[in-house]
Amino acid sequence: MSWRVGIGYDVHRLTDKRPLVLGGVRVPHAQGLLGHSDADVVLHALCDALLGALGQPDIGELFPDTDPQWQDADSRRFVVEALRRVLAAGYQVGNVDLIIHAQQPKLGAFKEQVRTSVADMLGLTADCVGVKATTNEGLDAIGRGEAIGCWAAVLLEGEGGRRP
Ligand code: MG
Repeated sequence: MSWRVGIGYDVHRLTDKRPLVLGGVRVPHAQGLLGHSDADVVLHALCDALLGALGQPDIGELFPDTDPQWQDADSRRFVVEALRRVLAAGYQVGNVDLIIHAQQPKLGAFKEQVRTSVADMLGLTADCVGVKATTNEGLDAIGRGEAIGCWAAVLLEGEGGRRP
């Protein structure tokens, strides 16, 4: 058995007239995140953690925001591809830990939905996914409610990556 760890980070600006989607969950809010795809900051951080653990190109390289096929794309498609790469490399996801930074909306009521959503996407039981939500205490752009950010950490386990 061998193991790989990965981290990912993403941030997107909040704007009017966009749905807010976090971890594949539609969260009711007056604003949503601005981006080429659906701007699901949680899934983007998760993808980069998965890809980083494999030592593979990041989400921006695999799904460039200059490519019209990814315009308003459901970011779950990116997770499907990242997971395909994990499995192809001989690994499976052990666990995932997420920290969502949002001054608003308050996410306490949605954490469980995000947890279940991410677990389902990765074929894990919910206890293998941690979701924390925190404000930035009024500091910086996230703290002023102008953006939402997310950190993701993953552990991969399997038989990949061994030298002969
Ligand atoms: Mg992004």
